[in-house]
Amino acid sequence: MAKKSRKKKLTKKTPKYIFVVGGVMSGIGKGVAASAIGRILKSKGFTVTAIKIDPYINVDAGTMNPTEHGEVFVLEDGYETDQDMGNYERFLGETLPSINYMTTGRVYQEVIKRERNLEYGGKNVEVVPDIPLEVIRRIKDAQKKAKADVTLVEIGGTIGEYQNIIFLEAARMLKGQHPNDVAVVMVSYVPIPHNIGEMKTKPTQYAARSLNSVGLQADVILARAAVPIDAKRKEKIAIFCNIPADRVISAPDVASIYDVPGNYEKDGLGNILTDVLGLERRKTNLAAWTNFVRKSKTSKKVVNIAVVGKYFMSGEYVLSDVYLSIIEAIKHAGFSQNLRPQLTYLDSEKYEKDPSRLKELSDYDGVLVPGGFGTRGVEGIIAAIKYARENKVPYFGLCYGMQLMVVEYARNVAKIPDAHTAEIKPQAKNTVIDYMPDQKEKIARGEYGGTMRLGAYPCKLRRDTIAREAYKNADKVLERHRHRYEVNLNAVIKLTEAKLKFSGVSPDHQLMEIAELPKEMHPFMLGTQFHPEFLSRPLSPHPLFVAFIKAAGKRKSVTPGVKFSAFPSTTHSNK
Ligand code: GLN
Repeated sequence: MAKKSRKKKLTKKTPKYIFVVGGVMSGIGKGVAASAIGRILKSKGFTVTAIKIDPYINVDAGTMNPTEHGEVFVLEDGYETDQDMGNYERFLGETLPSINYMTTGRVYQEVIKRERNLEYGGKNVEVVPDIPLEVIRRIKDAQKKAKADVTLVEIGGTIGEYQNIIFLEAARMLKGQHPNDVAVVMVSYVPIPHNIGEMKTKPTQYAARSLNSVGLQADVILARAAVPIDAKRKEKIAIFCNIPADRVISAPDVASIYDVPGNYEKDGLGNILTDVLGLERRKTNLAAWTNFVRKSKTSKKVVNIAVVGKYFMSGEYVLSDVYLSIIEAIKHAGFSQNLRPQLTYLDSEKYEKDPSRLKELSDYDGVLVPGGFGTRGVEGIIAAIKYARENKVPYFGLCYGMQLMVVEYARNVAKIPDAHTAEIKPQAKNTVIDYMPDQKEKIARGEYGGTMRLGAYPCKLRRDTIAREAYKNADKVLERHRHRYEVNLNAVIKLTEAKLKFSGVSPDHQLMEIAELPKEMHPFMLGTQFHPEFLSRPLSPHPLFVAFIKAAGKRKSVTPGVKFSAFPSTTHSNK
């Protein structure tokens, strides 16, 4: 008996952890780096999960303005998180639970709750070690939940700043507990100042030292730079940062984020990591992935998609991050059809100032209205939807894009006077989009954080509809939500009589989840109350995005790519 249990102990795999931290500056793609590492290890047959830590006080990402934070990615269980969680899900092809995301606010909230519940047994609860211990508890919980061989933990922010120090402390403590099971990957930036024209490694050296100063040593350095790093600089980084030169991995700018796993493998990153962690070496099999990447490069026929919305600009800069999952979902769908999507962001406010500009929408093969909140630009969006409907431009509306499609149809086709959404005009006679139950009270009480209808809910698909056909005749699907308003049941009969079909409904038929126009009336006019973009994956594009792109691909203005580039470029037209 004793012998048996000993044997069991010896063969039991110990979980491994990889911390991904950033050196020098933010915005160099730590999230994509962590995702790509995950893909490589998964393709070696390891079970992988990924955790994102954001150092801000917000308990979740839901209360932040998208122009401030980028996209809010909603997990299946409804937690509102950072866009990197979307990258992980797309690269890993996994559904991640909320334990895999934490912020400073979330961690403190939990510790304070426990203290209030006397769970610390009367002891003095301190920032150190109690906060890092809570971080470690969450990391281990996530590992257990996923039964992960390897758990990736990305620590947001940059080494050397105050905000994330407590999380680096958690990494140090975890390494202390499990010295052979923790690896640290530093994603660093290696600039080439244009007046010098030479790759400079000094900032990376300082970053490595800052990391040392909190008790951590990088095992691998990913050298982010405009071009591949040469042998001489690898040597230099190796000497000054205490690692062998072959553990400095070239991470040049790439045309597409999906190129990254293949690129890392050129430098053998997968085997390096398994060696560092004491895992057995296994073959990397990126065949399906590479096939997708190849398709993205050979798809030449351009399909022009207009994204009409408002969260596009931050100062002088275009913010495509706000719509990251939508952009990726369009790419996945496009490449699956051998089409190369070209996205143009159109600010809807210009249509309010000058409706004659709406006709530019005819130049596009499809119009997409993403989710959104509030009043600004809404009448412009409604005008754009009307234009797409009347001129038979394929239209896809996501959440707010569906609600405003219903408002437009109510006003102009069903002839419901004063039709609007309660979000903008609660006093309207016909709020065809109305508050969901409880939402009015929540708003009145000022309870905004985490109180929308969030996460995955089932949607029943009606027969003989575009939606059901797209979903390959499925009866029921599960999709992710994030909204406070919904189609008013009192308006449904009138809208249906006017030929708007509610092709997807909640199982109790109380919530309208998909609205569409019959094929005879329009090539593709469909809106979803949910956010299908959150479920699109490179290797399994979302069925509704595929249906939209197919419809757009059939439109006359499809032109052969003039200047071929591997991935769709995005442009902002605000002229
Ligand atoms: N503002 C709308 C609502 O709250 C739509 C939200 C969204 O597009 N995600 O219902």
